[in-house]
Amino acid sequence: RCPGRLPELKGNIRVLCRLRPGTPSSLVSVEPGPGGTVTTCYRGRHRRFRLDWVFPPDASQEEVFRELEPAVLSCLRGYSVCIFTYGQTGTGKTYSMEGPPEDPGIAPRALQSLFREMGAGRPHRVTLSMVEIYNEAVRDLLAPGPPERLAVRQGPEGQGGIQVAGLTHWDVPNLETLHQMLRLGRSNRATAATAMNQRSSRSHALVTLTLRAASPPRAPSTAGTLHLVDLAGSERARKAGEAGPSRGDPDGARRLREAQTINRSLLALGGVMAALRAHRPHVPFRDSQLTRLLQPALGPGTTAVLLLQVGVGRGCASRALPTRARPSAPL
Ligand code: ADP
Ligand code: MG
Repeated sequence: RCPGRLPELKGNIRVLCRLRPGTPSSLVSVEPGPGGTVTTCYRGRHRRFRLDWVFPPDASQEEVFRELEPAVLSCLRGYSVCIFTYGQTGTGKTYSMEGPPEDPGIAPRALQSLFREMGAGRPHRVTLSMVEIYNEAVRDLLAPGPPERLAVRQGPEGQGGIQVAGLTHWDVPNLETLHQMLRLGRSNRATAATAMNQRSSRSHALVTLTLRAASPPRAPSTAGTLHLVDLAGSERARKAGEAGPSRGDPDGARRLREAQTINRSLLALGGVMAALRAHRPHVPFRDSQLTRLLQPALGPGTTAVLLLQVGVGRGCASRALPTRARPSAPL
């Protein structure tokens, strides 16, 4: 979706924007930095959006992480932090979140930074879980057996949490083990080819780290939580050529349903964030599995960072552009 559809968010919800390299400046241009702007040009109409921070196309992975590091490290003081990458398929969500091995993204940098900090200070017990939400079904990406659909339940009254029945939580003794487990989880993530992008990721991937400070016996220990969420592509159904079943495309019905459920949970996330920002008494967490799962991470006293990915290339933002200007290569 185009960046203007998202409400401008303040307070404990920050919206950052990263422009993918290779995007023609005639179509999307930015004024980088804090309070930066993104200007899109669609059919000759210009629209300008202001965000909490805008990264230019040549921003490095390190520059992006520098903005996020204070929030990441606040988890060691018991805070709950949620970092999302949001955008159409091909705009660089996974690049920003994971990055290639030679130029790691937010997740590997966050883990390294946390372990470095823990090594210098108080020891913490670190546990990891990793799920995928695909068509509103929650699957454990680190389960030892074949992946099964898990039930999401309201936790016991007073404990205020959500429970995912049967979800595995792994103790992570060191950074190396953590990276190994993340690789395993990533390889279990479902992907399906669509007209938009051959390797398009049609699921939301959630990595959750819980960091509990070792404390003296009987003293209450507070746990901080870091959620790293690589969201599914935000393209609309008809844009992906997913018009439903046709003679040449018997799989169309499945993919149309898929696009609709992906959009429903993204819409729910937008609804939750808008309600939180406006301090509305009712926050519609229950509208999707994504927002149900993240309810404890998006409540009062938490920090959420939405990294909005914008870019033009094969398969992304194509409908927002005049046909003539549509680039043929990804970059
Ligand atoms: P998404 O996860 O949003 O579908 P990807 O992260 O897979 O998109 O990015 C699409 C392509 O663009 C990949 O080949 C990726 O390496 C490249 N890419 C995205 N952002 C950048 C960037 N900032 N610098 C270099 N290459 C990038
Ligand atoms: Mg991706």
